[in-house]
Amino acid sequence: MIVKAYGAHGADKPLESLDITRRAPGAHDVQIDIAFCGVCHSDLHQVRSEWAGTMYPCVPGHEIVGRVAAVGAHVSKFKVGDLVGVGCIVDSCQHCADCNEGLENYCDHMVGTYNGPTADAPGHTLGGYSQQVVVHERYVLRVRHPAGQLAAVAPLLCAGITTYSPLRHWKVGPGHKVGIVGIGGLGHMGIKLAHAMGAHVVAFTTSESKREDARALGADEVVVSRNAQEMATYAKSLDFILNTVAAPHELDAFFALLKRDGTMALVGAPATPHPSPNVFNLIMKRRSLAGSMIGGIPETQEMLDFCAEHGIVSDIEMIRADEINQAYERMLKGDVKYRFVIDNASLAA
Ligand code: NAP
Ligand code: ZN
Repeated sequence: MIVKAYGAHGADKPLESLDITRRAPGAHDVQIDIAFCGVCHSDLHQVRSEWAGTMYPCVPGHEIVGRVAAVGAHVSKFKVGDLVGVGCIVDSCQHCADCNEGLENYCDHMVGTYNGPTADAPGHTLGGYSQQVVVHERYVLRVRHPAGQLAAVAPLLCAGITTYSPLRHWKVGPGHKVGIVGIGGLGHMGIKLAHAMGAHVVAFTTSESKREDARALGADEVVVSRNAQEMATYAKSLDFILNTVAAPHELDAFFALLKRDGTMALVGAPATPHPSPNVFNLIMKRRSLAGSMIGGIPETQEMLDFCAEHGIVSDIEMIRADEINQAYERMLKGDVKYRFVIDNASLAA
């Protein structure tokens, strides 16, 4: 079936209205009418081929929420009308050690919601800036938030799980002092989640204007990271740092803030490398540098349920599909509070 979408024909081309084809639902597929789709910085990196290898046309979008429109004959988990979400993953090998542990995000054959290999036309997956999507039920999540919060739930499907997963993996909780670096889409979720997990949260931002907001989001303390004096007062004080920054920057300033045995996990994925950290900063206090990528399907469901239980959603600014190019420019300037979400009904216009 042909549906309306928004995407780009090349790395240097703006996004525009496109018609794309979705497969008819197979036996294990769920067909979803997409209500809203969040706008992740990864969408911008990929549609502009900043990570190289983008296939065109590229229809981004991996923070998808909507209602089930149809299900295949063997689908048992969902029925027509259910509120559901789809995140960054739409397929994986389903039998490797990673898949068996529910860590499909680390499967060597993980297929991204867009720009991944597929038998469907045009040979690569097309994402959530579209009216509908058809996804194998294994990769579909149940949304338990009230329907009225659906738009603000969308960003949980990537920004939520990408911050939840490392916070859980490094066992963040009461008694921990945690730094969240970069208060954008990911970072603002990181603050909310770390706070809900009971940690003492210190937010690090380059934007003086976000100082008050970060407190309202749940930060106990806020540091403007451009201010070296303010940074120095936090030396050797943090157990864990989650770094969400989308651009290359000096990591040493943050390593200096970790206690002995502290870890900084990078989730931000800049197009060009960070300057190499000073090795002495690591060895002197047995500190670790780590990375983390989104999260597996069971943990994504756990995160959605945790958020529903704790009343957590994203802070969003709703846009029409035809406002996406301006939204990208604003995202590059850090001018979004704190996630753009596309109203997919605007695709029909
Ligand atoms: P975003 O909304 O644009 O937020 C990034 C924040 O980083 C900005 O709001 C800004 O916060 C800070 N920042 C930007 N440029 C900076 C600079 N030059 N120096 C210092 N700070 C800067 O982006 P996002 O959607 O949260 O995504 C963040 C990064 O994570 C992207 O690279 C994205 O591709 C990546 N990502 C990774 C995964 C994963 O699985 N690992 C998943 C999703 C996204 P302040 O104004 O507070 O400084
Ligand atoms: Zn994302």
